[in-house]
Amino acid sequence: MGQRKTCVIRRTGRGLALLLAVWAVVVIVVGYRGLAAPISVCATTGMVADLARGVGGAEVQVDGLMGPGVDPHLYKATASDLIRLQRAEVILYSGLHLEGKLQETFQRLSRSGRRVRAVTEGLPADRLIRTGSEGVIDPHVWFDVALWSRCADGVCAEFAAARPEAAEGFRQRARVVKQELQALDRWVRDRVATVPPARRILVTSHDAFGYFGKAYGFQVVALQGISTVTEAGLADMTQLTDFIRLKGVPAVFVESSVSHASLERIRRDAGVKLGGELFSDALGTPGQRHDGYDLGTYQGMIRQNIDRIVEGLK
Ligand code: ZN
Repeated sequence: MGQRKTCVIRRTGRGLALLLAVWAVVVIVVGYRGLAAPISVCATTGMVADLARGVGGAEVQVDGLMGPGVDPHLYKATASDLIRLQRAEVILYSGLHLEGKLQETFQRLSRSGRRVRAVTEGLPADRLIRTGSEGVIDPHVWFDVALWSRCADGVCAEFAAARPEAAEGFRQRARVVKQELQALDRWVRDRVATVPPARRILVTSHDAFGYFGKAYGFQVVALQGISTVTEAGLADMTQLTDFIRLKGVPAVFVESSVSHASLERIRRDAGVKLGGELFSDALGTPGQRHDGYDLGTYQGMIRQNIDRIVEGLK
């Protein structure tokens, strides 16, 4: 009886020791994985940085290069920007020549072994808008919310390649991001449906809203082309003023990352109201809110833009 008791105690003791050993291994493995450094990411525009944060979660640390009001078409990297880019393990940019003056920098960084990726890479060619006689691709893809949601896949693939052990987490978060953006796309469709069809004309400073127009059924007319590199001439200004009068456009919209001066003059000449400032190529200031949404996020930016367009035109 006494022997059996000792035996049971010994067995229980061995079992406990085994359990403790397994637990210690689990703690070490989980601890090690938990301590794995997050991927340092440098993202160009606010829209790209937001996508990177959504897909990457706690596994990434995102440094957004271009703040509120910054024009990516004209953006040149300063010495301190180059240091920030060189420090990053993954560099994400929008692409399709949006960041026209950073192309060489991206090539150099890629050659030096960094992972460099345009988030628009891999989007279906038939969904991209070509403009002018040369068929230049319009880079402002983020204004078609459903199309932009597809960019989450490329971001996910890049992160998964950098940290294969965390790939499943990136895939899960990419799925959530895409679902959220598809819900946002449905919200935009419901909201713009309240504008009478004859009033669905969006007049802006530069041609950033081509994807918006195509996706949501608006005619889009801009003073400058798809890049802000070339400025508007006087003939363009007179033409646009005549167009606004002819079509009875109720309001025009200036942009946060483009000078207001020329469009403001047209607005006065045409005698129409200012529909407000839209975010075109940059997000708003983090912490400032619209209808509860942070303007430093893609959701907040899209929601404020759509509300302003709808209120200005309906
Ligand atoms: Zn632009």
